[in-house]
Amino acid sequence: MFWRRGGHPRTEAEAAAAATAGRAGAGPASGTRSPAGALVLEGVHREYKRGVPALRPLDLTVPSGRFLAVMGPSGCGKSTLLQCAAGLDRPTGGTVRIGGTDLSSLSETRLTRLRRERLGFVFQAHNLVPSLSVLENVVLPLMLGGTAAGDELRARDALAAVGLAERAGASPAELSGGQSQRVAIARALVTRPDIVFADEPTGALDPATAQEVLALLRRAVDRDGHTVVMVTHDPVAAARADEILFLERGRVVDCLEGADPDQVRRFMGALGRDGERRQAGPVKAPADTRTPVLSTAHAGAAR
Ligand code: ADP
Ligand code: MG
Repeated sequence: MFWRRGGHPRTEAEAAAAATAGRAGAGPASGTRSPAGALVLEGVHREYKRGVPALRPLDLTVPSGRFLAVMGPSGCGKSTLLQCAAGLDRPTGGTVRIGGTDLSSLSETRLTRLRRERLGFVFQAHNLVPSLSVLENVVLPLMLGGTAAGDELRARDALAAVGLAERAGASPAELSGGQSQRVAIARALVTRPDIVFADEPTGALDPATAQEVLALLRRAVDRDGHTVVMVTHDPVAAARADEILFLERGRVVDCLEGADPDQVRRFMGALGRDGERRQAGPVKAPADTRTPVLSTAHAGAAR
């Protein structure tokens, strides 16, 4: 992954570093201003109210086949970042590209289609349709794109992959919270999306159930090559990702690669809610705005 704050000119050294970051991941790098990635943000920022930035200008490249976690105190802009990146919200400025497609160039109809066909979503609330069976909930994203032979089989496979084959005919009301979230993951993966966006997917689950859900997301990356971007406030969840991006008051302040939960906790402890950085723990100084922070690929790292 590569990130830097946007909104200022890039030096040649930075551009070269960006290209290197792109090559370090699964995707080929263009060597230009936009290294290839499943998800590329350039200068993306969001103000809900004029003059009050919820997300400050940010450059971010997520190579395909990578699991990225986004952390930070409540209100720091995690969901805003996810919603802008996933085409659920239009940023105030900057460019979001998914698999090379510039989202700002799309009409609402085409954006909806891109979300349906190329993205998967998992939220804290699983949002299953209560009047449909478990299987019908998983078939739904396929049917929205036009029914095809084999849809039901694909949905059954997706359910089996989350260990719920035998609950296909159940009503969502009959499932536990963890089972419902596993159905939501099956529904997110059934279209074989380029990127899965998850916002606090374990936020409503007990630790053991949360681990099951995280294992499914991890496997989606390791075995099936999906790209996952997950917002979480849980250090244990974040530690399952390849890299963790830390936000504070709308700004990315750092990233960690291959961290364990204790390291993440220490890092989070040093992010003051008021934005004041406490002098505790092994936290790097905030990156200079002109210095890109790079992380290298470590595909296949056991977790
Ligand atoms: P997080 O997910 O990190 O808790 P959010 O991205 O939801 O934070 O919010 C970032 C900031 O933007 C907060 O100050 C929040 O109050 C504000 N915000 C979020 N959504 C909206 C909205 N739809 N309208 C106005 N302000 C919003
Ligand atoms: Mg949020």
